[in-house]
Amino acid sequence: MSNIDELKATDTRLIKAGKKALVRTYGCQANFRDSEHLKGILTSLGYTLCEDLKEADLILLNTCAIRENASQRVFGEIGLLKSYKKQKPDLILGLCGCMAQQKETIAYIKESYPYLDLVFGTHNLYRLPALLAAVEKQRQTVIEVLPKSDGLHENLPEVRDLPHKAWVNIMVGCDKFCTYCVVPYTRGRQQSRPMAEVLLEVENLVKQGYKEITLLGQNVNAYGKDLGLESGFYQLLEACSNTGIKRLRFTTSHPWDFEKKLGDLIAFKENLMPFIHLPVQAGNDEVLKRMGRRYSRESYLKLFDYLRSTIPGVAISTDIIVGFPGESREQFEDTLSLYEYCKFDHAFTFVYSPRANTPATKFEDPVAEIDKKAWLAELNLLVKKYSLARNQSMVDKEYEVLVDGPSKKNPEVYSGYTKDNRLVNFNGADLKTGDLVMVKIQQARSFSLNGTKSQNQPIEKDKAGAL
Ligand code: SF4
Repeated sequence: MSNIDELKATDTRLIKAGKKALVRTYGCQANFRDSEHLKGILTSLGYTLCEDLKEADLILLNTCAIRENASQRVFGEIGLLKSYKKQKPDLILGLCGCMAQQKETIAYIKESYPYLDLVFGTHNLYRLPALLAAVEKQRQTVIEVLPKSDGLHENLPEVRDLPHKAWVNIMVGCDKFCTYCVVPYTRGRQQSRPMAEVLLEVENLVKQGYKEITLLGQNVNAYGKDLGLESGFYQLLEACSNTGIKRLRFTTSHPWDFEKKLGDLIAFKENLMPFIHLPVQAGNDEVLKRMGRRYSRESYLKLFDYLRSTIPGVAISTDIIVGFPGESREQFEDTLSLYEYCKFDHAFTFVYSPRANTPATKFEDPVAEIDKKAWLAELNLLVKKYSLARNQSMVDKEYEVLVDGPSKKNPEVYSGYTKDNRLVNFNGADLKTGDLVMVKIQQARSFSLNGTKSQNQPIEKDKAGAL
């Protein structure tokens, strides 16, 4: 019996048969995975999930605090929801996730959005049934935010978003404290799940027919350090790859903790996908030092070269922050030259966004926002150029694609992802979500590929799934 079932058994007022709930998620995969648990808890209480705001009796916004514009989007959404609350006074409006962990947000919400019924943080989502019961008793906003985690809560109910691809959390939180990053404050210190629990979850997903699993953590390469494990992530990845799962991925990696032998394992194991997201953030040593990233340009490139030369057909993507406080034009040019060297398959690029209470907010920042935006545009030209070049090299070849499903507009156009994580839209017929097919690439776009399903069956001829 889960702790949710125990709560329901002791308080039948928690059961909400006939009510509808909508969970809206912002931000990273960790939030999407949390939302799968929130949906699981809500359905176990009797709610039916819905997508239409007008139908909902409960609306929960699971928020992200990584950048200022993510928070602003959520505040805009809460403003819009006020009219729904007016039309339906019994509607319960809730906000949870990373924004709720910030003291400034709580103060602002109390002042500006008093019509919110419920606010809770990242550490206590398992308390949702009790918090909803409190909302019904109390006329004021119920706010419960734990300053730190009270431990990992296993076996929470869940409603997985997809039938063929699953996220599996292997840890929560992060111990790295990069000077710009809010995650160690919103998600707390690193806590790894026991390896046996992760493995059990992966084995169950394989039994249920899942084709692809992504192991999830803020810094997966540090997995197990808090449990006293040596090479914990290597051990875990190897064990998970032996479960029979067709495709296994992981994200996100920190270059400082990334062991080279992981590259050897990925090259050796057929079901470890040749795709690595390896955030570099900047190409200049002084900037990296002030970011608290704990690696140098040289050591990053050494690891990068090793992975490229060891794993056949590997795709490597990255994250880059432009205009970190005090970054000069010359230092930014080091990022451009690193990008030219690496020719990343893809990159997520952002202008630096100050986050409350992080050390970088105290650094001097003489560069104007308009210049930072111009630098970002310059970098994005490189991102587009190299992404397109890699995609063009795939034209006229066939690649294995895991089918996500047909397009909403045209049932004969499907989409899916290659082993190296490229989005492919392709013509086909009578395919099911979760099928593995070969697709002949006919056209390359900057960030996707177009093609047609081939008659060939997926045969493991090379690591990248090409025939
Ligand atoms: S490793 Fe990632 S999650 Fe951790 S503090 Fe640095 S940027 Fe944030």
